[in-house]
Amino acid sequence: MKLTCKPLTLNLRTTFRVAHGASDQRNNVQVTVEHDGLVGYGESAAVPYYGDTQESLTAYLNALPALGDSPYALESILNSLPDGSHAAQAGVDIALHDLWGKTIGKPLYRLFGLEAMPLPQTSYTIGIDTPQVMARNARECGYPILKLKLDANDPETSVAAIRKETSARLRVDANAGWTLPQAIEVIPRLTQYDIEFVEQPLPPGDVDAFRSLHDQLRQMGVAMPIFADESVKTARDVAVYAGAIDGIVVKVMKAGGLREAMRAIHTARAHGIKVMLSCMVESSLGVTAAAHLASLCDYLDLDGPLLIANDSFKGVRYDGANLSLPGGPGLGVVPVES
Ligand code: MG
Repeated sequence: MKLTCKPLTLNLRTTFRVAHGASDQRNNVQVTVEHDGLVGYGESAAVPYYGDTQESLTAYLNALPALGDSPYALESILNSLPDGSHAAQAGVDIALHDLWGKTIGKPLYRLFGLEAMPLPQTSYTIGIDTPQVMARNARECGYPILKLKLDANDPETSVAAIRKETSARLRVDANAGWTLPQAIEVIPRLTQYDIEFVEQPLPPGDVDAFRSLHDQLRQMGVAMPIFADESVKTARDVAVYAGAIDGIVVKVMKAGGLREAMRAIHTARAHGIKVMLSCMVESSLGVTAAAHLASLCDYLDLDGPLLIANDSFKGVRYDGANLSLPGGPGLGVVPVES
């Protein structure tokens, strides 16, 4: 099997601003694995706050040892990948899964024993801006479930302005931007705006802070579910955070691929933890890969292709917030001729 990679540069429809920073363009990498006349496609997303760049992802992928000749040997190949960027590993994992499905001639979700539908509706992301602009974007986008990106700068005012303009289901993502005292002050106040859950209020790496937040909210009688995103990348992390959170956000890129993402989902289930399946800023290639796991999850946040202007793959289709998986073998994605 021959692995190659090339830049996959995504232009965003509008500037995307979260608590970590803002961007107009993302510089991902497309991975290709060829075998026996079949081509498997994968994507590695360069997420600035995880320290990946197009150059570092490409360097990892170009330095990989040969993958061998069996498109069925996923476990041994993926277990033997050198340590490094999870997003780079995810690109290899996705391409191998696509090739595996094409070799067998079936869509991935079928090989996993999963369903193509019905799937939960996806949320649509409203990036950080002034409360007025966020409220206008929330009203005009027309999506029934919105994920509001917030930072530490008066988050309640933004939520209040948005709630005034829309009856959509609202979720909040602080992207690790709050301190424990701020979270304890803000989250009880957010309950009046009918918020489904709060994602990653605190910095990653401090499970005790999450446990403290969880316990204090419960003592205050506040039932707002707290989800962990940046804190929980792999199945092992799920076990560490069990008891300190109510839900996790699973992303194929941070897990290091579909296999580990699926392990994280099952580990969450074992601990009674809810699961939202999400994505980075990715093309339809990476998001379609994730969508094959969608029927395992409680919530979806797969709006990557809706945020970019130059999608170079056709894959998962959107009818408003409803996703449908393509029917072709493997991922079912097709490159768009440029
Ligand atoms: Mg998040």
